Amino acid sequence: MTSDGTLLTVNGVSAAYGKVVALRGVSLSVKHGEIVAILGANGAGKTTLLNAISGVLPIAAGRIEFAEKRIDGCKPWTLSRAGISHVPEGREIFPSMTVEANLKIVDAFGSGPMFSVEDVLNMFPRLRERFRQAAGNLSGGEQQMLAIGRGLMARPRLILFDEPSLGLSPFFSKFVLGAIGALRTKGLSALLVEQNMRAALKIADRAYVLRVGSIVREGTAGEIADAPDIQEAYLGA
Ligand code: ATP
Repeated sequence: MTSDGTLLTVNGVSAAYGKVVALRGVSLSVKHGEIVAILGANGAGKTTLLNAISGVLPIAAGRIEFAEKRIDGCKPWTLSRAGISHVPEGREIFPSMTVEANLKIVDAFGSGPMFSVEDVLNMFPRLRERFRQAAGNLSGGEQQMLAIGRGLMARPRLILFDEPSLGLSPFFSKFVLGAIGALRTKGLSALLVEQNMRAALKIADRAYVLRVGSIVREGTAGEIADAPDIQEAYLGA
């Protein structure tokens, strides 16, 4: 963390899939204990940005720093040890394993706050009821809770959430986003990719709006929520 509390700095990052340029000179920052939303329509580059930060996708240009160390070019495994946890869209839990096994196989190598299995079950009591069931039999909302629980047990300092409310009922969506919002009390930082702008801005401190691979707006959650044109101009509403 730098003296002004910055934990993550993304500076002029570009990334491409072959000839398809998905990120063009993206710059952003996340401070310690901050929840930052990345908003944007389908195809804006939100998933690509998280994949670039977590080392899943090599970047073509720019620089990424985490906790004052340059991290672009590092492998996902190294970054997870350094304290970055990625909860991807599609969740990537192990469907044939029980909830218990999914939680217990996580390597808690990070240096962030400690989360035990019991902490995760207290945070998401539905998982306690489903503890010995195969994860593949859980509802979408329960699978999302499990994915978040797994992400936390790796002891990150920064957690990357890709569309955590996607496909969830309004009840689960509110519950899951509420749990993410509560993470700042543990001193965790989060980057939250969401198409659900209103829900994301309720829990975020700041937000960036991504459009065809570039940041077009940034501000506090209040400023972005109060900008009347954003939804129509950038989010495909
Ligand atoms: P969504 O919400 O639909 O996932 P997104 O904002 O996360 O959208 P990305 O998935 O990052 O957007 O996609 C950004 C751009 O990169 C899009 O033009 C997309 O078609 C393209 N893209 C994404 N993944 C690939 C891939 N594996 N191969 C080629 N192009 C890709």
